[in-house]
Amino acid sequence: MLLEVNDLSLSLKRAGKYSKILDGISFQVAQGETLGIVGESGCGKSMTALSLMQLLPDKARLGGKVDLQGEQITSFSKRKLEKIRGNQMSMIFQDPLTSLNPLHTVGTQVEESLILHTKKSKQERRDRVLHLLRAVGLPRAEELIDEYPHQLSGGMRQRVMIAIAMACEPQLLICDEPTTALDVTVQAQILELMNDIKRQTKMGIIMITHDMGVVAEVCDRVIVMYAGKIVEEAPVIELFQNPKHPYTQGLLDSIPKLGERKKKLGSIPGTVPTPGNMPAGCRFADRCIHAMDICRSTLPPMINILENHQTACWLYDEKEAKNDGSARSTE
Ligand code: SF4
Ligand code: MG
Repeated sequence: MLLEVNDLSLSLKRAGKYSKILDGISFQVAQGETLGIVGESGCGKSMTALSLMQLLPDKARLGGKVDLQGEQITSFSKRKLEKIRGNQMSMIFQDPLTSLNPLHTVGTQVEESLILHTKKSKQERRDRVLHLLRAVGLPRAEELIDEYPHQLSGGMRQRVMIAIAMACEPQLLICDEPTTALDVTVQAQILELMNDIKRQTKMGIIMITHDMGVVAEVCDRVIVMYAGKIVEEAPVIELFQNPKHPYTQGLLDSIPKLGERKKKLGSIPGTVPTPGNMPAGCRFADRCIHAMDICRSTLPPMINILENHQTACWLYDEKEAKNDGSARSTE
């Protein structure tokens, strides 16, 4: 397995005390597979990515285990981590403008990780940079290499970010909302590029998004996060055809159907509970139209729907369904 995440937890210090941002996160990514992580903002998607990269504030408490190609990277020293970041695993962020250095040329920034992680000569590096710029569909690579980020459009900048991330041929690429800041046409082009990259390499990709449309476009398998926990996991087609968790159902309902006006994800009434104010039972209970008594008192366990489809919801617990069936039918 390329990536194995086991019982990952993250606590951050806020206003003098620690609160849990991520709780019991476990998943795997195989070589060549694109795993979607989906949920509204504030559900812990980006924090999961930053925890994998171990790009966390100083006082963060990280628990659990992350294995990348059989190596437990959660026990790595800072120095060893620097060796794998940008090399074995890379990350692309939402906003290409703030991620690029305005003072350095495109060429210098793409070359940086080649200097850090390879023994290539100057000429070899230049050739590789040109190759990368062309591979991500950028025109006039020879000129672009000497241009600065502000001379580029948003879509071009995101292509540069992808070129940087791809420079050392990482085994794992983490993309955090890579198309959110782009307009719809450019968004489609970048997703197409991601699919090309996926076909051409054996890279594992984690695609973080709040957009079910993006999930449908590029993902093989999906985990749905809510308030710092995984609430559902399934292959992409199964998830779209047979969503089980009321939260997943809500997310899918908010996708505009053909001919319908675009609805916002926020069409599920209510908001995500904040860390430090987590309810004792199911974290979605306040927004769930199916909530039963047990939902408010006890956190639902992961329940197998199919071999590769799990959800954390009391509705699918056989014993609970019998006990509480009456409560539900009176809703
Ligand atoms: Fe709704 Fe209960 Fe399922 Fe939570 S466990 S999603 S409150 S039915
Ligand atoms: Mg985010």
